[in-house]
Amino acid sequence: MNKQCANCGVDLGVPTGVSGRVPAVAWMNSCHPCAEIARQMMELEQDRPDGKPIQIWRCRLCAGRRACRPGWRTRCHICLDERTTLTDAVLDGLADELRAQLDPEQIADLREVFQLSPSDWIDDVQAFELFSVLDLDEELLLFERPGWTIVAGDLIGMPWGPTGDAESHGIWSRHDACGVLQNVRRLPECATCEPEPGSRTHRARANRPQLLYLVSFNHPELGPLLKYGHGDRARVMSHLAGGAEIVCAIQAPHQHVVAAERNLRRTHNAVQVGPAAGLPLSFGRGSEVVPGHVGIALMNELARKDAVVVTSTFRRRHPRRR
Ligand SMILES: [Zn+2]
Ligand SMILES: [Zn+2]
Ligand SMILES: [Zn+2]
Repeated sequence: MNKQCANCGVDLGVPTGVSGRVPAVAWMNSCHPCAEIARQMMELEQDRPDGKPIQIWRCRLCAGRRACRPGWRTRCHICLDERTTLTDAVLDGLADELRAQLDPEQIADLREVFQLSPSDWIDDVQAFELFSVLDLDEELLLFERPGWTIVAGDLIGMPWGPTGDAESHGIWSRHDACGVLQNVRRLPECATCEPEPGSRTHRARANRPQLLYLVSFNHPELGPLLKYGHGDRARVMSHLAGGAEIVCAIQAPHQHVVAAERNLRRTHNAVQVGPAAGLPLSFGRGSEVVPGHVGIALMNELARKDAVVVTSTFRRRHPRRR
């Protein structure tokens, strides 16, 4: 099998087992014409600010930013181009799916932005791009903290669909107090400023949103199973990549999520499946895995006012070309 261009799908004539030999744009293999379109789409806004090994690129179409290590090539998280090829399986019904997720006010706003009449709606490709906006916003929200301004992230797989791969060129945020840019995915505390006395690290961590999630898995021998837990989007995506399906995901402050998970563990400890062959690797030793008939209501564990259900964001169809 040969490598394919992630954007237009063309056969690149190099076997998948051979490393390099084709351009890589935003982590994915690319043909030369698509790489050229991506190059023209982005302009360099900041080159190694504060001496940090990062470049901040800005999309000429939507003004969105993306972080990229010097020497690598990137493109907009959101914008597709005239060569982008998405399959019908990915696109079909996406516009309706988006409408179903929005409230009437958001729908009216969107009609205004796209200058649509009340009877018109966006097409599936536009919906795909808007889902990308939501994906990006959600991911960056996890890194939003008081006293910091997020400048640009880098989500592997986008604009063709996030892969959930946590490894990337980072989420770059500016510390308001000192103005220094830092990869907050790697280090949430400012590396430049003196740490304040007390439990600053702990407090900062306690307020960062996290996910409390429930996924299901059909085990060939044990039957339907459920796994609960807490973590970021990449954690949930690792379960889905291993064959699990999303049941529920709720975003809430870190400390509430951790407390809720502790409660769940206390309640369901006696029925845990434990270590078992055939579980997805990400399920670990099966301590948070229970038989499918066990009733687990995540929302009951969290205070409603600061919890947001984000389940549907894991149900979207994304192209898988890798
Ligand atoms: Zn191409
Ligand atoms: Zn763009
Ligand atoms: Zn600082």
